[in-house]
Amino acid sequence: MRHRRKLAAGNWKMNGTADDLGEVTALAEAHPDPGCQIVICPPATLLSRMAEAVEGGPVEVGGQDCHPAASGAHTGDVSAAMLADAGAAWVILGHSERRADHGETNDTVRDKCRAAWDAGLIAIVCVGETLEQREAQNTLDIISGQLAGSVPDGATGHNLVVAYEPVWAIGTGKIPTMDQIGEVHDAIRARLERRFGEGVGRSVRLLYGGSVKPGNAAEIFAVSNVDGALVGGASLKAADFGGIVAALGGD
Ligand code: PEP
Repeated sequence: MRHRRKLAAGNWKMNGTADDLGEVTALAEAHPDPGCQIVICPPATLLSRMAEAVEGGPVEVGGQDCHPAASGAHTGDVSAAMLADAGAAWVILGHSERRADHGETNDTVRDKCRAAWDAGLIAIVCVGETLEQREAQNTLDIISGQLAGSVPDGATGHNLVVAYEPVWAIGTGKIPTMDQIGEVHDAIRARLERRFGEGVGRSVRLLYGGSVKPGNAAEIFAVSNVDGALVGGASLKAADFGGIVAALGGD
């Protein structure tokens, strides 16, 4: 099996101003040689300043969304090329908050993913079921549909990361059982292999996201096909995110 580098990705959501950049520099100083890749996705307003602050160190930066078009009359939106211009190498797409708050469909996410790839960004495409869908035992069907619809043809281990984020686990302190996480990650891996071939399917990294904290990270990272985490709340403070980085990288 191709080696998949572990990945700790932080999603700052609509949090952070210049005063918070010290958290990222503290993280970089505390983990100069982490055993995993580290990405922080701040609000777009902080991207270029964060990219400058972490330049040459172990932390990379990413956006939280992009518009599917390269440029044009889209007031308030940011294109993938603009994210790249600001220093981003990554972009989160199809986060459940975008799907819920902005009505993003699988088609929208797929178009955004193409735009991200055109701009040379690595897309972190999010999928995940609601509590109602899990209770109705529709989890795997929902995830399969989101994956098929949100990821365009042309995926590789270099341009795509998939994040499994149960909607009911985001920001709630609740997490699925380790068996439930493993079941979904194994299913995502199988579907990627079927669609893109074994080589590509095995090289795409799969992150778990939803209430990951330093205290539960090691247990989650031991689950089959979990290659890292997408972290919201616990990515805002260097000490918390550092605990997750350490659990993942063994540093
Ligand atoms: C997220 O927003 O992607 C997320 C996983 O949030 P939290 O870690 O706060 O649950």
